[in-house]
Amino acid sequence: MKKIIPFIILLSFLFSGNAWSQPQKINVDGQELKLEKPAVLLYNRTLVPLRAICNKLGAEVKFNGEKEISILKESKTIHLVLGSNRATINNNEYIMEIEPQLINDTTYVPLRFISEALECQVMYDKEKEIINVSSKGSSKLIIEDQLTKVHYLNVGYGDCTYIDLPGNNDVLIDSGSSTRADTVIGYLAKQNVKDIELLIVTHPHEDHIGAIPAIAKEVPIKKVIDNGVVVPHEYYKNYRRAIWDKRDGNPDIKKTIKMGEAVIEILPPSVSYFTNYNNSSLGVRVKVGNVAFFFAGDFEELVENEIKGNIKSQFLKVGHHGSGEATSTDFIKKVSPDVAVISVGSNPYGFPSNNVIARLQKEGARVFRTDVNGNITVITNGNDYNIITEKGTEADLITNPEQDSIQNRGEVVASDEDKFYHKPDCKLIKDLNVENQVWFENSLKARGSGYIPCSDCDPK
Ligand SMILES: [Zn+2]
Ligand SMILES: [Zn+2]
Repeated sequence: MKKIIPFIILLSFLFSGNAWSQPQKINVDGQELKLEKPAVLLYNRTLVPLRAICNKLGAEVKFNGEKEISILKESKTIHLVLGSNRATINNNEYIMEIEPQLINDTTYVPLRFISEALECQVMYDKEKEIINVSSKGSSKLIIEDQLTKVHYLNVGYGDCTYIDLPGNNDVLIDSGSSTRADTVIGYLAKQNVKDIELLIVTHPHEDHIGAIPAIAKEVPIKKVIDNGVVVPHEYYKNYRRAIWDKRDGNPDIKKTIKMGEAVIEILPPSVSYFTNYNNSSLGVRVKVGNVAFFFAGDFEELVENEIKGNIKSQFLKVGHHGSGEATSTDFIKKVSPDVAVISVGSNPYGFPSNNVIARLQKEGARVFRTDVNGNITVITNGNDYNIITEKGTEADLITNPEQDSIQNRGEVVASDEDKFYHKPDCKLIKDLNVENQVWFENSLKARGSGYIPCSDCDPK
């Protein structure tokens, strides 16, 4: 549940998955818009020279200082700031998909936003490749509470997604590790979240559940779905204490939950995989109208191959932080995402794998990652969607500079939860989460820090 705030978003949506590939012709009320400098297509959004579009739509332009722009028409005042994607229309705040900016000494503004703010309708004629702006249509101002917002939070190495569904339903999928609890609590507070109607826990690794005890103290959690796997670690006991009376049993049964207009499907893997915590991850599909979001937890190819039913989704939260063992081409084809989000922070495994990024891009998905783009928010009305990143765009991540860090991690590894250190291939630490690993250059340094050699792998 959240407090409704009087805040409205202007949807400057994509027309379809694949927007225009080349500069377009723009018609305003059937007449070609004459531009002294051509329209620019940037990240699939059309930007046009400020003065040309405002003149054509009968609005007056004023510059206040270097960066602030006012656009005035009748009772409307639109404020823009060069380089910022925040705008106001008559003092109500809006978010634009792309920011106004200087291109070759000319001020460019997003065509769709300006047109809709001035109460014109914008349509794209695919066949003729013309954008039609019509002053006779009505613009698409939509009250925020009717929208679904999916926030992929940047919690470093870990997963946490907050979903704000219409009808005041708040859903959290995983929490990130305990070290990131404040990040999540702060984010939820900013979004005015008063309680969480449903928490879905994909699997009991620290980077997925560690922050839950701290979050539950601040924001009441009403119902929890997890996979029932019990882990002999302190962090799991803390998790269990925090939510046990809220659990909804029978984790191995496929479930469908309706929350307002949204349909949430829980897709558990076969119990035979439950010995491997990652492969015990519950798959989750959230569908609102015609837009679906798939969450692959940390499961890898074995489970991907077995998932049955329709999992086609425009959005894929990529499995296991972009590990090369997950996100096979067959699986990508089954999901067929327009957009893939990798939730990852610095790690010794070289995640995300460049191969995973390449496989996704080859199948036509735009790839975002939380370590590069920060928090990633998708806003949808069930038909169209809009993606807002905290920083950068998908174009920023073609190569992975962290890829070679795996060589630098050291000879032995300890758990921060007991006194022992191990060889990296010791079976006793096979499932030790990256957040709980303490690496040492060699045995001497581990002993110097008070750790004892494991008697099983005998690291000397
Ligand atoms: Zn994980
Ligand atoms: Zn995991």
